[in-house]
Amino acid sequence: ILELAGVTKTYGDVAVLRGIDLRVDEGELVAIVGPSGSGKSTLLHVMGTLERPSGGQVRIRGVDVAGLSDERLADVRARDIGFVFQQFFLSAHATAAENVADGMLYAGVDARTRRRRAAEALDRVGLAHRANFRPAKLSGGERQRVAIARALVGRPAIVLADEPTGNLDSATGGAIVTLLHELHASGATILVITHDHDLASRMPRQVQVLDGRIVGDSHATALR
Ligand code: ATP
Ligand code: MG
Repeated sequence: ILELAGVTKTYGDVAVLRGIDLRVDEGELVAIVGPSGSGKSTLLHVMGTLERPSGGQVRIRGVDVAGLSDERLADVRARDIGFVFQQFFLSAHATAAENVADGMLYAGVDARTRRRRAAEALDRVGLAHRANFRPAKLSGGERQRVAIARALVGRPAIVLADEPTGNLDSATGGAIVTLLHELHASGATILVITHDHDLASRMPRQVQVLDGRIVGDSHATALR
């Protein structure tokens, strides 16, 4: 569903990604692990079309994104990618349900369908009872669940999560990991960045990044 071949990214004369080959199939749950500064976030931004690679190919659902205009690229991003970030990025003035509905801004669905789908997505992350709460009245873990619901609501091909538990204590973070497993079990394709090895060890596949390169790619046999 997502394929990178020989992807490089340089900023000025700094090479941040140095030739990444990676294929993620539909329905996979993959952890990207590596030390700070190894290029994990840059990799996620390139995979999510937030940034164009300096070299190499990125294919999403078989489409080589290099040939697309900025406008078409934004369409691909809106339709195929759901993002989750460490800082949640929720709108403070909107309720949980409204924040989730924002994940469908470009999907061209009518207001009633938007509301129904937002309610379904909130239910999927266990937050149906918080639909009308604004972020200030939600705990950190609940805010991240809202952000995950927003990422899912447009039914993207893949969800990209950058340190989704980075701002949460370990119990709350553990519950988010459990949620990712549930979503994976129900068919979602998820790629999650972490530098928490404990968390990564709970994922069925782990890709190790070091210095802008992939230095390991292992599939776990026993899961929990
Ligand atoms: P962390 O675990 O701390 O989040 P990371 O693995 O996500 O680290 P990146 O954010 O991808 O690392 O950054 C990798 C390197 O690329 C860093 O040295 C960073 O300074 C550099 N870098 C990232 N974005 C830019 C940019 N826009 N301009 C210049 N350098 C950048
Ligand atoms: Mg990062």
